[in-house]
Amino acid sequence: MRAARLAEPGRMVIEDVPKPIPGPGDLLIKVEACGICGSDRHMFRGEYPTARPVTLGHEFAGLIEDLGAGVTGYAVGERITGDPNIACGRCRFCRDGRPNLCENLVAIGVQRDGGFAEYVLVPARQAVRLPASLDPLHGAFCEPVSCCLHAMDVARIPPGGSVLILGGGVIGLLMVQLCRLAGAGQVVLSTRQAPRRQMALDVGATVAIDPAEGDAVFEPLLPGGALSWIDR
Ligand SMILES: [Zn+2]
Ligand SMILES: [Zn+2]
Repeated sequence: MRAARLAEPGRMVIEDVPKPIPGPGDLLIKVEACGICGSDRHMFRGEYPTARPVTLGHEFAGLIEDLGAGVTGYAVGERITGDPNIACGRCRFCRDGRPNLCENLVAIGVQRDGGFAEYVLVPARQAVRLPASLDPLHGAFCEPVSCCLHAMDVARIPPGGSVLILGGGVIGLLMVQLCRLAGAGQVVLSTRQAPRRQMALDVGATVAIDPAEGDAVFEPLLPGGALSWIDR
């Protein structure tokens, strides 16, 4: 199969690699869509530790093509996405209910091969079944949207609350939409890129500002200041 692999910092190669064989507990997924995360750019630049070589891509959706030994509850042909972060379940942080801090964390598309390929292996316990009718492009958004939903839980935006979002990338633009869905009033997004300011307005920001135009005057936009701010 073909895979886009990070050979070393600054060098991605598309090459033929063996199609993975699902081990016990694994699902073999035929990738339909995989997002490019800002973290992928950091990994490409060598700013974030990865295995090398490694197939990047941790925001994927695809169809189950094969099941490893012992997998139950899934069937060939079902569409899934996956939580790429595989915690060990044994270290002190895992036992404390904080698997995000796992000392032995292995992430799909970081330390093991990910979704920039025709196939990816996903442990069944990391898989999340998606509706058959869901556009796989939207399925690939599950991972970044999940991160944003966690941010929403932490931010606790009150109804009508004002929010300042710094950064207009995918995450910032997702946050605009979630803030509006959560009932925020004023949602101000700050980014230097004009197309993203326009997109922010299109998806629900009440104001989009360019921080390069000098110190932004927030007082008229957010009387009394923002109740919540989100730094992307
Ligand atoms: Zn990511
Ligand atoms: Zn752990």
